[in-house]
Parts: sequence; C-alpha cells; structure tokens
Amino acid sequence: MCKFCENSNCTLTKQQALEHGAIIEDNVYHIMRVATDSTPNTYSFKDMPCYDSLSALFPHESDENPHAYERFIYDEDENCSKDWEYCEVQNPLSWNTEEEFIKIMGVN
Ligand SMILES: [Zn+2]
Repeated sequence: MCKFCENSNCTLTKQQALEHGAIIEDNVYHIMRVATDSTPNTYSFKDMPCYDSLSALFPHESDENPHAYERFIYDEDENCSKDWEYCEVQNPLSWNTEEEFIKIMGVN
C-alpha cells in the first residue's frame, strides 16, 4: 500500500522516480525553447494548441511523495514565463524520459 496515492498495487519509491528522471508525454513534438541557466527546455505537443510551451516533468526534489512532479510553463502568446506547476503522476516509470526524446530528436 502506497501511503501517497493509496493504491494497494503501487510500489513506486522516490528513489525510482529520481533515477527515472524527467519524463514527457508521448505526443511531444519538438523543442520550443532551449534551456537557459534558470529554465529547462520547453516543448510543443502534437494536437495541442501552443499558447504555452511546457517543459518535461521533473521529480519534485523537496517533496517525499514519489508521485510529486513539477514542470515549467512558458507563455508563448505573452512571451513570458508562467513559472513552475505542481502535478502528480500515477505511474511515472511507464512514461518516456526526456533524455530518450532528446536522443531521438538529436537536440542538445
Ligand atoms: Zn503510490
């Protein structure tokens, strides 16, 4: 029983989430903004309006919940940062990693 998501089948640990690293949706399309010193890469996604570009989802460093992730959002319409957003991911180990995507795309 996982005390964070209350799913009896969940065996996810923070260690596993951290080792898996940054994750990204299957419909990621291409890179919008290359990482700077203070912001990560952001991406556009297939079949999604690109008013905002989104970073990969990063395991939340200071939250012990292994399902806790955060992502950076950039407002492409206003051309400004919208800061980081918290979210929870049920099964992050089943997601593709940003690293794999970058290898496929040949960026960075
Ligand atoms: Zn859980």
